[in-house]
Amino acid sequence: MSDIRNLEPKQLWNYFHDITQIPHPSKNEKKIVEYVVAFGKKHNLETIVDKVGNVIIRKPATKGMENRKGVIFQTHLDMVPQKNSDKKHDFEKDPIETWIDGEWVKAKGTTLGSDNGIGVAATMTVLASKEIPHGPIEALFTIDEETGMTGVFGLEPGLLKGDILMNLDSEDEGELYVGCAGGIDVSAVKTYAEESSPKGMAAYKVMAKGLKGGHSGVDIALGRANSNKLMFRFLMQAEADFGVRLAEASGGDLRNAIPRESYSMVLVPEIKAAEFEAFIKGYDKIYKAEFSDTEPDLKFMSEKTSVPAKVMNQGDQYRIIRAVFVCPNGVVRMSQAMKGLVETSNNLAIVRIKDGKFETYNLCRSSVDSAKEATAWKIAAVFHLINADVKLEGGYPGWKPNIHSPILKTMSKVYNDMYGKIPEIKAIHAGLECGILGGVYPNLDMISFGPTIRYPHSPDEKVHIASVVKFFDFLCGTLKQVPVK
Ligand SMILES: [Zn+2]
Repeated sequence: MSDIRNLEPKQLWNYFHDITQIPHPSKNEKKIVEYVVAFGKKHNLETIVDKVGNVIIRKPATKGMENRKGVIFQTHLDMVPQKNSDKKHDFEKDPIETWIDGEWVKAKGTTLGSDNGIGVAATMTVLASKEIPHGPIEALFTIDEETGMTGVFGLEPGLLKGDILMNLDSEDEGELYVGCAGGIDVSAVKTYAEESSPKGMAAYKVMAKGLKGGHSGVDIALGRANSNKLMFRFLMQAEADFGVRLAEASGGDLRNAIPRESYSMVLVPEIKAAEFEAFIKGYDKIYKAEFSDTEPDLKFMSEKTSVPAKVMNQGDQYRIIRAVFVCPNGVVRMSQAMKGLVETSNNLAIVRIKDGKFETYNLCRSSVDSAKEATAWKIAAVFHLINADVKLEGGYPGWKPNIHSPILKTMSKVYNDMYGKIPEIKAIHAGLECGILGGVYPNLDMISFGPTIRYPHSPDEKVHIASVVKFFDFLCGTLKQVPVK
């Protein structure tokens, strides 16, 4: 059996098969939007396409369920287009080739789109069904979740009528998600005067490398090193002890990745060169010892280089080094509501110093919006002190975990009744559409769940077949138990 259309629940897998046949990478959702709209119309359901291209389909309650709270199923229509380098595939034209590998459904050499195609197919199955009992339902299919969330950002208030939002975009069957982090970008830019390099100096390129990096939210509490932090701590002491002059520096390249590599170009009085080399080796030892558990491949090293023509003026150098050194980074606060969850963090992601311009870019996250703002302002304050031009941009709200959420209670009980175990309750220190939706619709009781998906966003993406059955049965079981309005 190689055709996924024969898997159970059959209707769900048939819709998923349809979805795999329609190219739908992020920002190219036109065809899949048409498909979902045609589906809504075919089933005589109220179908709306909003201003930005999200689709909303409404289905009235089944008989005897009219008094229940309204449920919104939320999924995203786009998928991440990733393929193996040897695979010939055009994501704007070619269908995804699916195959069954034991307990899993996979794609041949590309992402599968089970993130979030299974959620979309599950929603369609409920919308098309004549047998599943449920209260009033709205299905919200958003666009562009994977590359900027412009769909959910563009969603207008007042459009959705439901009381409970079920996001079907989680990736571990048996887990219920009840929170996520919001984020805000904090940048600081400052120009500085350069001056001619002093005479009698030796030049070194100092490097921090071999770090693991990782996702700036999900991996922020793993105790990994931030290469920018290593570099500027070193620079602070190097300036004090050796009178180094800074010519340039750079570290990190993505706001949402923990920086793995940084370098600086520094000048040291020639007579102190040997001592300086030993000093760098000392820092290598210190850092290796401090991060022995988390960064086994860390290297802090230098190589001699030709003396650059210009360096930063001493006053700005003093201030900039100290500002980067004290800038908050890493976990700022752990959640008090959920054990082990990071509430607030900052990633000192990017630092660049070159040709008279200093820049730094930070991504600050929190599930508590006021804490996110306070941390962003703390970072801003540090760079205000050195007269940098500071900007707070691209802010989006978090979803503060509510462990007393009524739908969480209902679903925990339903799951326990069905499968004899309480589901795990979780939150994620990263952005989800729920955070933004909750910002627009603050009264929604929200929850997120889904089937088991592994390696999403990569050509190894796969969805666990048995978990789809459990996920869908759980969804239908929950619908029966949705409380009266
Ligand atoms: Zn997704």
